[in-house]
Amino acid sequence: MICYPIHGPAPRRKSRQVRIGHVAIGGDAPVVVQSMTNTDTADAAATVQQVAELARAGSEIVRVTVNNAEAAARVPHIRERLDRMGVNVPLVGDFHFNGHRLLTQHPACAEALSKLRINPGNVGRGSRRDEQFATMIEFACRYGKPVRIGVNWGSLDAELLARMMDENARLREPEDAAVVTRKALVVSALDSARQAEALGLGADGIVLSCKVSGVQDLIAVYRDLAARCDYALHLGLTEAGMGSKGIVASTAALSVLLQEGIGDTIRISLTPEPGGDRTREVIVAQEILQTMGLRSFAPMVIACPGCGRTTSTFFQELADRIQGYLRAQMTTWRDEYPGVETMHVAVMGCVVNGPGESKHANVGISLPGSGENPVAPVYVDGVKTVTLKGENIAGEFQKIVEQYVIDNYSKRSAADQTPADEQAARAAG
Ligand code: SF4
Repeated sequence: MICYPIHGPAPRRKSRQVRIGHVAIGGDAPVVVQSMTNTDTADAAATVQQVAELARAGSEIVRVTVNNAEAAARVPHIRERLDRMGVNVPLVGDFHFNGHRLLTQHPACAEALSKLRINPGNVGRGSRRDEQFATMIEFACRYGKPVRIGVNWGSLDAELLARMMDENARLREPEDAAVVTRKALVVSALDSARQAEALGLGADGIVLSCKVSGVQDLIAVYRDLAARCDYALHLGLTEAGMGSKGIVASTAALSVLLQEGIGDTIRISLTPEPGGDRTREVIVAQEILQTMGLRSFAPMVIACPGCGRTTSTFFQELADRIQGYLRAQMTTWRDEYPGVETMHVAVMGCVVNGPGESKHANVGISLPGSGENPVAPVYVDGVKTVTLKGENIAGEFQKIVEQYVIDNYSKRSAADQTPADEQAARAAG
């Protein structure tokens, strides 16, 4: 039975910690954000560029597909080029069907990767399955690389599923096929993990995932998995979809599990719109963790939705401008202003909730609604400090935010650290 605290998430499930390059997953490490490229890995230039974009957006681990000899051959070059650029994000190789052969023919690929992802449903059929799985685990052991055993609803081990369905059919009261399928996902992951351990891979070199595309199925599968092992768990709703549907479905599923203390790393599998930005999946993952209070990545902008009291799009534009500015600044602020990622900025549309919400934020502005005096009071740490008016409200407010960051988050010596600093450091994970 799960015991829920009155406020906040349940304590994190105790899992073994796995090192993925310099990044720790599981144990007492914060929940890690990861992502995956959609470039052809054989196209090293495009892949390097996208990995760097994902890493700069905040992805702490990036997975690349390794689907053929050209891709496997390019992985060491991709690693080298990223290192030369100062992008040290760990790379994970995603293997299916021919991973055993690619690793055998391109051992430098295994060496350059920080983790191998193996899908037990796609490593081979019949007697060759075990042999090919063993080959991949041997490479992981030889090069000291952890492995994610990533089971997927769409490629579940067909022989295992057929066997479990047959056993179920012989029961006096057979279970629903969907229940058996969910159980088969968990059995596939656990059996493969134990097989990997028997081949010499330590339990602290194993991460498990069981991805499905339905929210309730995902929650049920991970609750079961979490109760039956202490391996680190990678969460993700597979094939979440496009746009708001993909974001909502992923958030709904992952929030429930994270609230229950389940999950050591997450990936949001969004389908980008044509020409869309791949980094969106990173931003969504960060925002799930930050809005749940689990980690902080960038200052949060609180903005009202607007209503008939707002006569223009000015406050929407200001909220968008401030949000974009804060996120863009994080590449340098992260090092210069520790704790800035916990800052809250309010941009409100009128006097109804504007002053109140602004007072709760570190810095807030309440813009004039229709019929109101065309002035915008600004609040800093709950106190009204200035009233802006005229053509350059946006520029002046941005300067106030920037000054607040300099005044409150500049690096201080350890002796100058306040309890608020320590709290911010803890929240940042
Ligand atoms: S703060 Fe004002 S403008 Fe914004 S939603 Fe509320 S009433 Fe409407």
